[in-house]
Amino acid sequence: MSHLFNTYARMPIDIVRGEGAWLYDITGKRYLDAISGIGVCSLGHAHPRLATAIAEQAATLIHTANIVGLPLQEHLGDRLAEISGLDRAFIANSGAEAIECALKLARLHGHARGIERPAVLVADNSFHGRTLAAISASGNAAIQKGYGPLVEGFVRVPYGDLEAAETALAEHPEIVAVLLEPIQGEGGVRVAPDGYLAALRLACDRHQALLMLDEIQSGMCRAGHWFAHQHDDRSRPDVVLSAKALGNGVPIGACLATEAVAGLMQPGSHGTTFGGNPLACRAALEVISIMSEEQIAARSQKTGAALRQQLEDGLSGHPHVREIRGRGLMVGIELNEDCGELKADALARGVLINVTRGNTIRLLPPLIIDNEQRERIGQTVIDIVHKRFPA
Ligand SMILES: *Cc1c(COP(=O)(O)O)cnc(C)c1O
Repeated sequence: MSHLFNTYARMPIDIVRGEGAWLYDITGKRYLDAISGIGVCSLGHAHPRLATAIAEQAATLIHTANIVGLPLQEHLGDRLAEISGLDRAFIANSGAEAIECALKLARLHGHARGIERPAVLVADNSFHGRTLAAISASGNAAIQKGYGPLVEGFVRVPYGDLEAAETALAEHPEIVAVLLEPIQGEGGVRVAPDGYLAALRLACDRHQALLMLDEIQSGMCRAGHWFAHQHDDRSRPDVVLSAKALGNGVPIGACLATEAVAGLMQPGSHGTTFGGNPLACRAALEVISIMSEEQIAARSQKTGAALRQQLEDGLSGHPHVREIRGRGLMVGIELNEDCGELKADALARGVLINVTRGNTIRLLPPLIIDNEQRERIGQTVIDIVHKRFPA
């Protein structure tokens, strides 16, 4: 009997080691990783530079709590400001905690405006994490089930529907912030329509609402830019959430904000014991350096375009394939029926893939995959779809 909570439907393999885009099980069999620990290990596994930085830091200083000055945390704040265009960072340990920070900022912003019961506009099919507030913000009944009463103060609209969002903002003066993923990840790799975020920026300005973008999955070069919203420079968010690939596997999250929004919090307003410790900050700093020196964003764009083209060539016109979409190496293939069994089909061919929302194959391979690995991932997906769903 396992002594662990039975909270995960795990694949039937035991992974003990990784190298680049490869994972090795206890018997030594290798698998090509096309999911990166759900968009986390974007630089691949056991990256030598990152491993050295982490080992050095572990032998120097892991943790002191935020009761003293931490130069590595300051330095990480500087780099995050550079890559996001925002001014300040609160460093947390996970995506859900970064979301919590953003939701608390929204409430502070509302109260500062004299709104007693502030609300946040969120989207259908969104995913923001598993804390009570994060599941309340998420548009996913399955992860909320059984956990009521949920946190109140959310107004929900269909994703990508500008008119619905503008109507909600007009009808609900209590809305003080809009929280959205620029590309919905768990929601099936749905890319925001062109101009949607830019128009929401203007709508938020009209209603004194904050534009808060959850880039936990879509950020850190995954979608071909440091952050997916940078695809359109008119998006200009007030708050950006990062986590997942930020530490390449070392737990870390960040809530990035403008000077004005970050200024809503003072000493004592918010905190975390582990958040921003030297080990996690050193890892994130090394990740940012590697991504910047090796131009990983451009590489993600290029490899992603090639992968989508390969999938289009091999699958378009297939009667069960509804749409192939994504940006950079955040790729979704929506079928017109449930296809969870494809995970096992891919595994049998030595490739790890993921299926989300029941009917959408999600590919989030390490951004460092080479052409041969990209071809193998693409061909595997094409083969298993044809095999399981003969045209
Ligand atoms: C994974 C994810 C989260 C939650 O991050 P955790 O680190 O698991 O708490 C939030 N938002 C999005 C878009 C995510 O993909």
